[in-house]
Amino acid sequence: MSDLRVRFAPSPTGYLHVGGARTALFNWLLARKQGGTFILRIEDTDVERSTQASIDAILQAMEWLGLDWDEGPFYQTDNFGLYREYVQKLLAAGKAYKCYCTAEELTAKRDQAMKEGRKPKYDGTCRELGEQPADKPFVVRFRAPQEGEVAFDDLIKGRIAFPAEELDDLIIQRSDGTPTYNFCVVIDDAIMKVTTVIRGDDHVNNTPRQIQLYEALGFPVPRFAHVPMILGSDKARLSKRHGATSVMAYRDMGFLPEALVNYLVRLGWSHGDDEIFTRKEMIQKFDITNIGRSASVFNTEKLLWL
Ligand code: GLU
Repeated sequence: MSDLRVRFAPSPTGYLHVGGARTALFNWLLARKQGGTFILRIEDTDVERSTQASIDAILQAMEWLGLDWDEGPFYQTDNFGLYREYVQKLLAAGKAYKCYCTAEELTAKRDQAMKEGRKPKYDGTCRELGEQPADKPFVVRFRAPQEGEVAFDDLIKGRIAFPAEELDDLIIQRSDGTPTYNFCVVIDDAIMKVTTVIRGDDHVNNTPRQIQLYEALGFPVPRFAHVPMILGSDKARLSKRHGATSVMAYRDMGFLPEALVNYLVRLGWSHGDDEIFTRKEMIQKFDITNIGRSASVFNTEKLLWL
């Protein structure tokens, strides 16, 4: 066993689509190649949109694809107590603060910023305000360091840097006491000792915020690999109008899981079109740094009947 620990962390708000499956596959391949651990975590903090039917559908699709996990599935809703503890820790250390601004005030400030051509950003009204009467509703914000830049060496995209002053004081706990997405991800990845985060590049903008949180909490920062998104044949983001996007739809059409897995692994990967890899070959050949930096086009005609 190596120390590598990766995870696939779907939000159960729908079926497993081919983009998610590809992310899961890359995590799985890296774990199997390096003798590491593949963790499955269900990110169900959005209780309104998360459903048991989606959870079942995701697990079923993972099983059909043969992407077995070593730990989990873990559920974020089981961890709310833990997230709250860490919010308290940051508050006690002065690294987070209670913000009493109302939604109307924030909207007005945002509109004003847009009108003046500024990027909307929390203006820090409550940064130094201190404790207010207990009956006043509040959210908890992270006191985001504003100096220098936050940079990381992405395993696929290379070095990515963000000026710290562009990073907002992120809300980490809502007024109803529930934790927010970016915060939960950091706590989970830290306590699950995830060493390499492989996820869709729609999360690139979250990464510097999460890095600041790791640092504030004293956790080691994992490595990141942001996988370019999958496009339809017209170069627009892959969606239902391009055809089936659900993994299980391909099963229902009669494809073998090996066909889909072979196709997905080579999307954006330079390994010739005709060759069919066995799982073993796929694991052997897989190299995360070979994944192309730009988006790849999903063309179902290239899917093979095996
Ligand atoms: N739950 C997120 C999603 O489904 C993934 C978060 C992550 O991988 O960090 O997009």
